[in-house]
Amino acid sequence: MYATYKFREMGYKIQSFEAGGGLGGVWYWNRYPGARVDLPSVDYSFSFSPEIEQEWTWSEQFAAQPELLEYINFVGKRLDLNKHFQFNTRVTRAEWDEARTLWVLKTDKGETWEAPYCIMATGPLSVPKDPEIQGLDRFKGDLYRAARWPHQEVRFEGKRVGVIGTGSTGIQIVQEVGKTAGELFVFQRTPSFTMPMRNVKLTPEYVAEVKRHYPGLREAARASAVGGLRPQSTRAFFSVTREQRQTLLEDAWKNGGLAMLGTFSDLLYNEEANAEVAEFVRGKIGEVVKDPVTAEALKPKDYPIFARRPCLDSSYYETYNQPNVHLVDLFKENILEITETGMRTDKGEYELDILILATGYDGLTGALTAFDVVGRGGKTVNQKWKEGAKGYLGLMMAGFPNLFTTTGPTGPAALANIIRISENDVDWIAELMVHMEQNGLATAEVTTEAEDGWMDIVSTLGKRSLLLKAKTWYLGANVKDKPLGLTLFTGGFAKYREYCAAAKQDGYRKALAFQPGKVERA
Ligand code: NAP
Repeated sequence: MYATYKFREMGYKIQSFEAGGGLGGVWYWNRYPGARVDLPSVDYSFSFSPEIEQEWTWSEQFAAQPELLEYINFVGKRLDLNKHFQFNTRVTRAEWDEARTLWVLKTDKGETWEAPYCIMATGPLSVPKDPEIQGLDRFKGDLYRAARWPHQEVRFEGKRVGVIGTGSTGIQIVQEVGKTAGELFVFQRTPSFTMPMRNVKLTPEYVAEVKRHYPGLREAARASAVGGLRPQSTRAFFSVTREQRQTLLEDAWKNGGLAMLGTFSDLLYNEEANAEVAEFVRGKIGEVVKDPVTAEALKPKDYPIFARRPCLDSSYYETYNQPNVHLVDLFKENILEITETGMRTDKGEYELDILILATGYDGLTGALTAFDVVGRGGKTVNQKWKEGAKGYLGLMMAGFPNLFTTTGPTGPAALANIIRISENDVDWIAELMVHMEQNGLATAEVTTEAEDGWMDIVSTLGKRSLLLKAKTWYLGANVKDKPLGLTLFTGGFAKYREYCAAAKQDGYRKALAFQPGKVERA
């Protein structure tokens, strides 16, 4: 949305494509019960328009999906963006025409479009992944995918409901559906750590204050490691006494949100520190969940806390104290198949009326490997990423001139506020376009050396991080045959911005190669 707006304001002719029936991306598709953002709404919103910042009023600290979508549509309408989008349209091929220095795009509507620049704003979490379980298409009940949720209300009263998946999505669904379902069976493989969200309604006084201070708040977010307003301490875990640590952890638990991660500086680097925090959270699970067997099964044990995306909940663990909610521990019993009437494991059968899949995404790279993106010399992104994603700043790829990815897989993507990253990336691309125009340049492409240099930085930083110690979508571990590895930039958003700024110095000469020529704006 920002790219469409920005490039239009610069005078370019824009054509945007969107597979969904409207604006919103993840918030258009994920209409499942309980869907809610896990960053403060005032932080998870565009900063490029001071007018919109003043005109829009968030009602909750962590907005639910309907409000997020309403905001997105408000922005779309306010900036008159919809007219640039062709909705319900999937791009099926994008190919670089070297002779004419144009990207040629084909869509599933049978159209061909040509443009000197192509921006892939395809998102890190846009290709949902079904579980590899036999018989999925045999189920005669109602099958729902969290990331393709129907637009009409689904009711669970008196129904036997199964949920597969206990990541952020599954957790949000379970705590909500558990309220009304006749019986709820949660099929859990790896338990997640989840912390209290402690969501609140925003008071008019708070909103007025935020609106008055938006410029400063945005600047603070841009200068932070997470691209947001969450405090990040410089205090190392073992630099304070055991009693102080306990007090700080209790405070973080009481304050809610992702406060705990920022309470100490080294939780993603120091294994011992991480282990103590993990034990603290396991203790909390034990305090809430009454049945000791269920409590034990809900405690994550074999990976560092925060190495999987931390989840926020409002009543997840409490939900398991309800008599209608049952945890099926897939470490103790194996799913054999989905049948016409439910789920069969090696311990028995679960009759279900509704089955919900919250089984995640082909994250980071999935959107660009799902169709042919063909660069110079006929080489596709799929071929380029055979051993894992490669790129420069998450923004460009060697071999793909004038093609840009926003929140790409070699930037901070999933590790910082995605709205701040998107704005940064679009601004960076826009400045490059201006540079090209001013200098009579038709194509820009990152050099192989600059790309390799960037991937070395990514890899060196990544090796220090505990993120490597959990099997997650961050690493591609959830998709069969996907190359395993951490290509995300783990150095923090502020540092990422420094690298983005450094790339511009010296007329981009250290990192990019250009071809002379003229790009027509319209
Ligand atoms: P996810 O974190 O990848 O979780 C997928 C879940 O499905 C995992 O528990 C996984 O278990 C399970 N699963 C997959 N295949 C399975 C199988 N065959 N049998 C049993 N279980 C299976 O996906 P997600 O929950 O959709 O979250 C993805 C990301 O979206 C999050 O990390 C977060 O960044 C974002 N998100 C954010 C919010 C929010 O803002 N509040 C909400 C939802 C999502 P294993 O781990 O054992 O494979």
